[in-house]
Amino acid sequence: MTRAADATASPVKEFDAVVVGAGFAGLYMLHRLRGLGLSARVYEAGGGIGGTWYWNRYPGARCDVESMDYSYSFSEELQQEWKWTERYASQPEILRYIEHVADRFDLRRDIELKTRVASAIWDETANRWEVRTDRGDRVFAQFCIMATGCLSTAQTPAFKGLETFGGTWNHTGTWPHEGVDFTGQRVGVIGTGSSAIQSIPIIARQAASLVVFQRTPNFSVPAHNAPLDRDFEGRVKANYAEYRRQARESRVGFVVASNDTSALAATPEERLREYEARWNRGGLGFSAAFSDLLVSKDANDTAAAFFHDKIRSIVRDPAIAEMLSPTGYPIGTKRMCVDTDYYATFNRDNVRLVDLRKHPIEAITPRGLRTRDAEYELDSIVFAIGFDAMTGALLGIDIRGRDGLTLGQKWAAGPRTYLGIAIAGFPNLFAITGPGSPSVLSNMIVSIEQHVDWIADCLVHLRAHGLHRIEATVDAEEAWVAHVNEVGHATLYPRANSWYMGANVPGKPRVFMPYVGGVGAYRQRCSDVAAKGYTGFSLASA
Ligand SMILES: Cc1cc2nc3c(=O)[nH]c(=O)nc-3n(C[C@H](O)[C@H](O)[C@H](O)COP(=O)(O)OP(=O)(O)OC[C@H]3O[C@@H](n4cnc5c(N)ncnc54)[C@H](O)[C@@H]3O)c2cc1C
Repeated sequence: MTRAADATASPVKEFDAVVVGAGFAGLYMLHRLRGLGLSARVYEAGGGIGGTWYWNRYPGARCDVESMDYSYSFSEELQQEWKWTERYASQPEILRYIEHVADRFDLRRDIELKTRVASAIWDETANRWEVRTDRGDRVFAQFCIMATGCLSTAQTPAFKGLETFGGTWNHTGTWPHEGVDFTGQRVGVIGTGSSAIQSIPIIARQAASLVVFQRTPNFSVPAHNAPLDRDFEGRVKANYAEYRRQARESRVGFVVASNDTSALAATPEERLREYEARWNRGGLGFSAAFSDLLVSKDANDTAAAFFHDKIRSIVRDPAIAEMLSPTGYPIGTKRMCVDTDYYATFNRDNVRLVDLRKHPIEAITPRGLRTRDAEYELDSIVFAIGFDAMTGALLGIDIRGRDGLTLGQKWAAGPRTYLGIAIAGFPNLFAITGPGSPSVLSNMIVSIEQHVDWIADCLVHLRAHGLHRIEATVDAEEAWVAHVNEVGHATLYPRANSWYMGANVPGKPRVFMPYVGGVGAYRQRCSDVAAKGYTGFSLASA
């Protein structure tokens, strides 16, 4: 490895590591690399740092994981000093936090903004990556670390006639920084996933009228957001290390009250009591109400029925309530949404719901949107159509490993990784929260920190042993992919046409991408691999 380089000095062409992306993952990775005395350059396509929280500025954008959990744990001073204002932090507050972290740890000087990495080519003889950007940079690095994000490639709206639309349109994932004023407008929102569910109640209050175009209804649980309870904050901060330890060892990266009993063993009254308690507490802990909700369809049906009753009790028009009630996939197998007043918004006189399964969109027109049966006049369209999740950003880069193998070729039938971190055929390349790791099924900050720490420890190991190269073996990758599949298919998850399965992107292979084995168990597995000298990897000195 080269000695630490000053990135502000005259053009440095060679780094120990190139990091792609400056969200939570890229920033912490840079901090760790610096701490190891390694030189690094971070490239970020956006005009600012923050990743998800830089791009997603739609009305109501907010974290679903509680603030005291959704934050870095690596610095005791940072976690003690930062004061969150709400139970769930809003996008502006999270972005302020990220900016604060970047300043506090002096990270900005190694980050190049507005620079997209276009290609990363492995040079077998020099044992290094050649990285090129869309601004013409050409740099070399021994290690290439992909902090490109699981939900960072917004789906491009592919609707006939969009170019003829006379109004304005935006994607929630690339929202204008100056905001959008919907006052007096006729607005259409396409999609009813998490971003739509957060933004619809707010847009409805502002717009003259709102039409929600829904293909698949989602299960949404109330957030019950509120100013952060200062007693709770005090209790957590008094014992933050222990609080974080429990999160790291938990299933999903934050502690939820789990229940070891089966929903089917409980009486209807016990079930109702448990579901009501979770609904009233709010947030993502609902799926842990009983031990078998994600493995037994019969158990799951009891939770789905509870939701349907809730929707019927909130939404006054029975036909609309019916349309909003998800059927056809088990609850929890698509990402659960967390809302403020979502279902109640459909009681408003200025809000309409259109079922796209019955009335598919034919075209966007100069005046609005035409379904098979009607035309809707709109001034503004919001595309809340999600992301090419988990693989989109990685496959968006021309990555070529040994013998010219491209990542696109390697993943033609779906992503294959070892531990979600490494890929056979791609030496010295790491993916943070890659497919095959718990990533999007978890509190992502916990998963990000775990991967970054694992990678940093790995680099220390290589340096201590005079090694220059690490690559996952094909056998270890094979076995890991089989394990990820086996564990995934033992659950109900694959029964949903979800973005976890790649089902939201036309032509994308249907593979259940994240690892459902649990954050704590997964961490142990990764630690064991390292403790045993990086089993499943081949290491070499040249
Ligand atoms: C609306 C929304 C809400 C979310 N809510 C939650 C939540 O409640 N809880 C939770 O745990 N997670 C949530 N997530 C997931 C969220 O993405 C992660 O929590 C976390 O922010 C990911 O950080 P990251 O650094 O891994 O990736 P990102 O924040 O996505 O950052 C990746 C960065 O890489 C950049 N990039 C990608 N490709 C290139 C390239 N070729 N060249 C240069 N730069 C590139 C992107 O521009 C992006 O800025 C949410 C995601 C979204 C979209």
